[in-house]
Amino acid sequence: PVEIKRRKIAVLGARSVGKSSLVKQFVEKQFIDSYYATIERAYVKSIAHKGYEYVLEIFDTAAQYAIGIHGYVLVYSIASRDSFEMVQILRDKIIDYCGVMDIPCVIVGAKSDLHSSRQVQTSELEKVAEVNNAACVETSAKDDINVGEILT
Ligand code: GDP
Repeated sequence: PVEIKRRKIAVLGARSVGKSSLVKQFVEKQFIDSYYATIERAYVKSIAHKGYEYVLEIFDTAAQYAIGIHGYVLVYSIASRDSFEMVQILRDKIIDYCGVMDIPCVIVGAKSDLHSSRQVQTSELEKVAEVNNAACVETSAKDDINVGEILT
């Protein structure tokens, strides 16, 4: 039988940057354009990657850190500089909290479809990802752009 690996992933970021929408798009392949405040939910999805089957438990959290997390997705909106600054604060807190530097981390610039209200340039994302030794990608849950790339 195929070996199954379990991975816990926390999705963190400022309020209303699009965390729930990204997780929903990734897990359920749908985008619902209605605002609801984030309550903590956990989603489960299995994916095949490099010959293993992974069960991903994805925590869509307001701003807490769960125990035993394997990786973080830090989300900001490209249309909000404040939410971008929040990413570095969260990253520092995670390192503090976990006491290690090498937890896998992806920094996601969400709502990449909002071109005309962009406040954060792609080059800034790339820079902050490099400094923090993290992967990075810009995504749109609305248009389903790069959503699958986040976790693979
Ligand atoms: P959360 O609080 O970070 O979980 O954010 P939500 O997923 O609830 O999204 C907040 C708002 O942003 C909602 O009104 C969504 O419809 C909207 N939103 C989320 N993702 C996108 C996106 O990719 N593009 C656009 N234009 N709006 C989005």
